[in-house]
Amino acid sequence: MTAIAQRLANIRATLPSHGTELVAVSKYHPAEAIFKAYAAGQRIFGESRVQELQAKKASLPADIKWHFIGHLQPNKVKYIAPYISLIHAVDTSRLLNEINRQALRFGRRIEVLLQLHVATEATKFGMTFDECRALLNAGEWCSMQGVQIAGLMCMASHTDNKSQIQAEFRSVRDFFDEIKARHFADCPAFRHRSYGMSEDYLTAIDEGSTLVRIGSAIFGDYS
Ligand SMILES: *Cc1c(COP(=O)(O)O)cnc(C)c1O
Repeated sequence: MTAIAQRLANIRATLPSHGTELVAVSKYHPAEAIFKAYAAGQRIFGESRVQELQAKKASLPADIKWHFIGHLQPNKVKYIAPYISLIHAVDTSRLLNEINRQALRFGRRIEVLLQLHVATEATKFGMTFDECRALLNAGEWCSMQGVQIAGLMCMASHTDNKSQIQAEFRSVRDFFDEIKARHFADCPAFRHRSYGMSEDYLTAIDEGSTLVRIGSAIFGDYS
């Protein structure tokens, strides 16, 4: 068994048997590393740069589900629109509009998550709860046939303080319930809470994560 297969197996053993999916975050790691995880049964991979994703997609099996997890510039949506299976970090209506436009060009409906800013770091992207409420209340998204809002995404603060991380995830979980009741009560497609990375995914699972995005714990540190 390769080291990557072993680490994947160890992580899978800690995930609930249903309700939580693993996104293997392969950014900065070569296609060969991704293929090792693929050979071990992994099918969902997360990338955060468009050019890097394009190159890897071209050399890897077609049944991989690619998730875009990073900050996405609207002018780059067109490159990934033909195939991307989930875009995790939508935080402006401008980006949402562009995803809709490009999805329709390719005859697709692309699933997206709305990114919330809950961490204390000022540099991270994402909306406040109020900005997200405003976007949803504005209602423009209701008529977008090219996008399906499938849930929420966040990153916790980079800290050793577990109770802080827990509170941040919990705030998004509560917000999910609010948004679900208000806008998506009849919409089973609105189902995802994307949170939890290598350092905090067990806490994230306790707080109801449905998608954990794990990179370095599978592929090793970024060099
Ligand atoms: C890099 C990254 C991850 C994975 O981080 P690890 O700590 O390596 O598990 C998850 N989510 C996002 C948005 C990332 O950019």
